[in-house]
Amino acid sequence: LVVPNEPVIPYIEGDGIGKDISGPSQRVIDAAVEKAYNGARKIVWKEVLAGEKAFRETGNYLPEETLEAFRNYLVGIKGPLQTPVGEGIRSLNVALRQSLDLFVCLRPIRWFKGVPSPIRYPSLVDMHIFRENTEDIYAGIEYMAGGVDAHKLRDFLLKEMGVDKIRFPESSSFGIKPVSKEGSERLIRAAIRYAIQRGLPSVTLVHKGNIMKFTEGAFKIWGYDLAENEFGNNTFTWRQFEKIKNEKGRLDAEAALEEAKKSGKVIIKDVITDAFLQESLLKPYNHSVIATMNLNGDYISDQLAAMVGGIGISPGANINYLSGYAIFEATHGTAPDIAGSGKANPSSLILSGVMMLEYMGWYEAAEHVYDAMEHVFAKRKVTSDLFAQMEGATQLTTSAFADEIIRNIH
Ligand code: NAD
Repeated sequence: LVVPNEPVIPYIEGDGIGKDISGPSQRVIDAAVEKAYNGARKIVWKEVLAGEKAFRETGNYLPEETLEAFRNYLVGIKGPLQTPVGEGIRSLNVALRQSLDLFVCLRPIRWFKGVPSPIRYPSLVDMHIFRENTEDIYAGIEYMAGGVDAHKLRDFLLKEMGVDKIRFPESSSFGIKPVSKEGSERLIRAAIRYAIQRGLPSVTLVHKGNIMKFTEGAFKIWGYDLAENEFGNNTFTWRQFEKIKNEKGRLDAEAALEEAKKSGKVIIKDVITDAFLQESLLKPYNHSVIATMNLNGDYISDQLAAMVGGIGISPGANINYLSGYAIFEATHGTAPDIAGSGKANPSSLILSGVMMLEYMGWYEAAEHVYDAMEHVFAKRKVTSDLFAQMEGATQLTTSAFADEIIRNIH
């Protein structure tokens, strides 16, 4: 990515607490950039409209100019958006992702000392979720029970495909789960590259291939094929381990695995989703990068976020690694119950901004924010969501919390 010294970054303020967290987050990012580059680099923020504000001003929830801005400037950031009810739009977030084909939803999971966690060793958590963003049951291809299309589909399955009718009574609704080789490969390729570039130890393919053999099972097989064919020099797969074990015995397989680890190869493994959800709680240190499909990724992202303090502090990004388009975003919703009250935690959006700085290659600025946030959390200065769970903490408003981070940057 070639980034000018004064890049224009389009941002969507967002609905609900979007207004509360957007300004303070930008102030933190600006302070870190100023500290890191002494004025030689600077972000030029450009507001673009979406959601309620866009509707009020333009009569459209997602104006074409907003999409144009994200296409023009490549990298952007957004607050949460409320999905308008009954407007024929499934979700503004989904519409944004689809229109820019942002096929990776990336969620790093990292714990800050002092933040309440339900697990015993949160400091051992360092996970990076790559969730496929465009396919799977999320594609929204559904047929309602009793409708003409559901009826036609049922007829086709019973008559042409020979499916047993006891399994599909008249009252059946249907959802289609498309999973393609290309779609799976581009997601897994991005996850493996990310692990190699950052020197991370493993990529876990998480799937329910034991039950859904031709969709989730195929995801696993395509993943292993890709790792061995495209990244053979940098990876060692569990499938290769099994092959050596079957041909030469367990000792040889274990020796090969040890050798691969020693030479810095990324270990590619796979785990069934339910086992993964359990194991990630009990032994989070077993996993580093996680590559998974859309629905699994949805569940996993929020569970892992809860392990390190919840969605209020978990950042996220939607990225197309081929075109470079990327939108960084707060992972929580619009929190209408606390909008305008000064209670919102801006950490999720601030940390999404940090991911954005890293994506732009502005690592020094990103480090300044991380370091400052570590100090602020360690001093137990927090917003109201975390205050209630932390003994001896000081409660700050959204804006005062951002100011405290800025003070620590300086
Ligand atoms: P929510 O995340 O808005 O709120 C859930 C709970 O978490 C609420 O009690 C809220 O007060 C609290 N919370 C959320 N973010 C917080 C923060 N930063 N600081 C402190 N507390 C915080 O989820 P919801 O209530 O299910 O959804 C509300 C709206 O948000 C819906 O319209 C939904 O469509 C939308 N939504 C948008 C996104 C997005 O834009 N990416 C994601 C999820 C939900």
